[in-house]
Amino acid sequence: MSFSSRVKEELIPRPLDRRCCVLAETAALTQATGTLGFLGAGRLSVTWRMENAALARRVFRLLKEGIGLRPQLHFVEHARLGGRRTCVLTVDGEDAETLLVALRMAEREPDGQVRLKHTSPRPALNKDCCRRAYLRGAFLGCGSINEPEKSYRLECAATDAGLAQSVQRVLAHGGIEGKVFERRGHWVAYIHRAQDLADALAMMGASRAVMELENLRITKQMRGDANRASNCDEGNSEKQITSAHRQIDAIKLVSIHRGLFTLSPVLQETARLRLEHPEVTLEELGQLMEPPVGRSAVHHRLKRLEQIAGEIEASWEKENAPGSE
Ligand SMILES: [Zn+2]
Repeated sequence: MSFSSRVKEELIPRPLDRRCCVLAETAALTQATGTLGFLGAGRLSVTWRMENAALARRVFRLLKEGIGLRPQLHFVEHARLGGRRTCVLTVDGEDAETLLVALRMAEREPDGQVRLKHTSPRPALNKDCCRRAYLRGAFLGCGSINEPEKSYRLECAATDAGLAQSVQRVLAHGGIEGKVFERRGHWVAYIHRAQDLADALAMMGASRAVMELENLRITKQMRGDANRASNCDEGNSEKQITSAHRQIDAIKLVSIHRGLFTLSPVLQETARLRLEHPEVTLEELGQLMEPPVGRSAVHHRLKRLEQIAGEIEASWEKENAPGSE
């Protein structure tokens, strides 16, 4: 199951919130999956279509228990789409009027007539609880999240531009930077940073998903640190190999031109061990000596050998310099 599906599975069974939040969630779900129908003679209907049967049951509960309507639920089989089933919920007549007024799409006139003002819900999002519920409804209705192993991205895409704008506004209240763009007739609100994704999930109430995401981030971080550490090791060993090559060249130069026997016993031993063990670190080289010595002593001795090699080279230059004869 995808991360996106797991988040939905966590959110769908949540108990219904207070009535203000029920309306906010219903508004988002209506913007995401609903359509307004005109049945003639001024009669209206609202229809929601979705493939997720568990979500359809939640919408049913929101309408029935939350708002007190009598929604009808039926299923449409798509023989051509491999038997895929769409869940269809409908309210009409008085129930549709009650809902449209509750979602601030219509107003009830003093004579009792309901007058349609907007074709899309106008959710009241001035309370924190309602903003959370709205974001949850938007995500459940038309949202998706990438697999966090690959990237941190959540988006809500609906034909209703109002949904993307409201999602952006709701996110901004939580200090989350959401962006909006249009893609093939859909308005898309999205976030693309790990912290924003974690915050948005927390806002919706998906605490299990937040924990999963944080654990993944820690694992990724540790893996990143381990990679950096091993890159660092490689850097060191490359530097170490370069130094070893330079030391060996110096020792060979001394050996060829003066003979190692001309060196002090300590330098002779150091030179010999370095030639025999070109790949070991200075610490390891120190351990090979009799008696063992520390890294800095080895470093000092090898520097002395390079210095001697440098003196030999300098004397050649002097000898070979033009006009020195
Ligand atoms: Zn509320």
